[in-house]
Amino acid sequence: MPQKPKLKVLLCSPRGFCAGVVRAIDSVERALEIYGPPVYVRHEIVHNRFVVESLRAKGAVFVEELSEIPATDAPVIFSAHGVAKSVPDDAAKRNLFVLDATCPLVTKVHREAEIHFRRGREIVLVGHAGHPEVVGTMGQLPPGAVTLVETLADAERFVPKNAEQLAYVTQTTLSVDDTSQIVECLKRRFPAIVGPHKEDICYATTNRQDAVKRAAPKVEAMIVVGAPNSSNSQRLKEVAERAGCKCAVLIQGAAEIDWSKFGSISSLGITAGASAPEVLVEQIIAAFAERYDVSVDTVSAAEEAVFFPLPRALREHQAAE
Ligand code: SF4
Repeated sequence: MPQKPKLKVLLCSPRGFCAGVVRAIDSVERALEIYGPPVYVRHEIVHNRFVVESLRAKGAVFVEELSEIPATDAPVIFSAHGVAKSVPDDAAKRNLFVLDATCPLVTKVHREAEIHFRRGREIVLVGHAGHPEVVGTMGQLPPGAVTLVETLADAERFVPKNAEQLAYVTQTTLSVDDTSQIVECLKRRFPAIVGPHKEDICYATTNRQDAVKRAAPKVEAMIVVGAPNSSNSQRLKEVAERAGCKCAVLIQGAAEIDWSKFGSISSLGITAGASAPEVLVEQIIAAFAERYDVSVDTVSAAEEAVFFPLPRALREHQAAE
């Protein structure tokens, strides 16, 4: 048998699940255990098909809007991305039993926006149009209170009503570098603008991008495991490209590997977005091991020990058991 070519795999650490995703998935699993199926989930609980399908198989029913849910006593879980205020309001009108799995770091941004609004400030949200987190954050306040800025060009063009009464917040899953450029532009143009000490980009997004920045210059290709609608996964691919990796691909699992892209490489970086389970990384390494003589090393950017407790109703149920 011909010898397999050698391939050095550099695993980025940290990668994959963050504390907010673990909490969201655990919330659905725990609700299924306590209340039994069906458990309704508004929007994909996290942006990962593998996770969604495995929860669906256990009895979770995914909907995009509350209007798709019949009159029921079953729990309705809001996804990690957060929701506009109108959603819990509608749920309350319908007497739905809500469990809110919004990541606490997203909720923190909601509260920041509310405080700025109460203090009479016009708010700039740095983020991507249409992402559920952005829809949720903008939906904390009345229409017109928040202006979305997606790019540096948007920041250059933005005309506030009053430059002395201005604040900014950011989506949690952006590119750290792009966001700091946009924030710098806003600060230069509007020196009185107020915002968080650091951008609202969460620890998990920051750490995963740092690890990719360290690994990308050392490898010929980089695989990011994640869904196309996962903002933080898309950003990891961009970070790898900018850090000098000529071939960065975002795939959902081993079945999507385009082998024509990896023919003669001898080094490969692998990372995973915050909503991608580790089993998908393991399957990708196994697929490479069938064709290459693989050795695995780790590039570490940070140790993570963040944990978020489950929503209160699930916690209380646990305590009562
Ligand atoms: S990526 Fe960050 S904000 Fe999003 S769920 Fe994870 S910890 Fe929370």
